[in-house]
Amino acid sequence: MKEKIILFDSTLRDGSQAESISYSVGDKIAILKALDKCGIDYIESGNPGSNPKDIEFFEQLKDVEMKHAKLCAFGSTRKSNIGVEDDRNIKAILKANTPAVAIFGKTSVFHITDIIRTTLDENLKMIEETIRYLVENGKEVTFDAEHFFDGYFLDKDYALEVLKVAEKGGASYLTLCDTNGGTLPFDVYNIVKSLKKQLNTPLGIHCHDDSGLGVANSLMAVDAGARQVQGVFLGFGERCGNANLASIISNLQLKMGYDCLPEEYMKNLTGTAIKIAEISNYNMSGREPFVGKSAFAHKGGMHIDAVLKAPESFEHIKPELVGNERRILMSEVAGRSTIVNLMQEINPNLTKKSEETTRVMNRIKDLEHQGYQFEGAESSVRLLIRKELNKYKPFFTIEDYKIIGSQPKTENTGASAMVKVNVDGASEINAAEGDGPVNALDKALRKALEVFYPKLKEVRLVDFKVRVIDKGATASKVRVLIESTDGKEIWTNVGVSTDIIEASLIALVDSLEFKLLRDMEETLKTYKLL
Ligand SMILES: [Zn+2]
Repeated sequence: MKEKIILFDSTLRDGSQAESISYSVGDKIAILKALDKCGIDYIESGNPGSNPKDIEFFEQLKDVEMKHAKLCAFGSTRKSNIGVEDDRNIKAILKANTPAVAIFGKTSVFHITDIIRTTLDENLKMIEETIRYLVENGKEVTFDAEHFFDGYFLDKDYALEVLKVAEKGGASYLTLCDTNGGTLPFDVYNIVKSLKKQLNTPLGIHCHDDSGLGVANSLMAVDAGARQVQGVFLGFGERCGNANLASIISNLQLKMGYDCLPEEYMKNLTGTAIKIAEISNYNMSGREPFVGKSAFAHKGGMHIDAVLKAPESFEHIKPELVGNERRILMSEVAGRSTIVNLMQEINPNLTKKSEETTRVMNRIKDLEHQGYQFEGAESSVRLLIRKELNKYKPFFTIEDYKIIGSQPKTENTGASAMVKVNVDGASEINAAEGDGPVNALDKALRKALEVFYPKLKEVRLVDFKVRVIDKGATASKVRVLIESTDGKEIWTNVGVSTDIIEASLIALVDSLEFKLLRDMEETLKTYKLL
């Protein structure tokens, strides 16, 4: 039997401390549901004592049903020299009404004498009494030993004493925090190993990524005997962030043989990551291990050739294990086999030598010559292939569009756009204002199309890049790359023109067509017609 590791996510608490992350109550509930669905065991949902937004959130949580996860309120031990039942924060924690509670306390003598300025004895009492009181009130308590490793290096007997009183108070987990993120993996391993022999309560680990070692330190702690791992699903958090829970889960489960999630849940990891990034308005890096868009993307011709023969030649795991997918990047180097691979998704009988392959290759070369670059924009290539194979009927056509720029520019209304679309003979005309011409055009186009295709409401533009292509003597062209998401998938489209608006429109149209095509394929699959 594989040993179970308890997963503890802090996206809504430590994660929300990250620069430029800000959650509404609705966002928090959406993230909570995503984490619950993913199979996380504990979700730290905020600090009810610290701000009114969290109090409102906990109030609303009473009606939210969790399928698997236990909700956990976070707060500090009682203040020094007052009764635990009189402490305002402790009262707020009880009122939050969660089954689990995480309480942090000071472990480092430096923080006790110089920062909170109390005595070492009083600190021990604060920890033990707070935990006991919460346990008596029916809570399951995780004790977060703040600055544990720094404290251990300063005075290891006192750091151990802190854990012992927390154990005596009745904590269910003693979690060692590398709060400043400066500890090294072998130190984490040795310390956890030695503590394991001196304590009976399961140990947990909470790492920050200031040295780029958050994941490594968490894995070392588990290897040495820790059984609860805390992290933030996508690793964002204060300063350099928290240990990335998605990476930790993947490594523990796929490489170290632990049981973090039921096997069938593992393939939801990528989808959960995209969803959380989307709600958090966080631009997830393509290079995110395991779940990033580029995590299994291949470009060099020789690599691609090898991967197509045997994927394990350049992949450390099968991408589908974590719900990700292999991507073969388009480029002149990539060559024919890449294209054939994509073409075979539509017609498995096509080969490198097929006449259709030559036609598609010529079309790509022609477009590359015009300034297109398909690397990373394989959704545009997929559409192109369908068009060349006559396997494509456009979902809409644009009959007309107009853009009006205005000065002086007021907020969000630098321009307005009018678009007329045609869907199966029916026309729809719509106008919108936007922050600049492309934004206005995007809005007007969607408004018109949503009449026919309500699912387009799910699509959001996440990135927009413009490059000027230096063509020497000829007029300079621009290449526009648009990255879109529907909360489930991220895709990129490309458009080229001497006119930036036109280049943007080509990419926008492709982006919306791709979404419609994907949804249609999904429906056909559901009814087993594909
Ligand atoms: Zn932390």
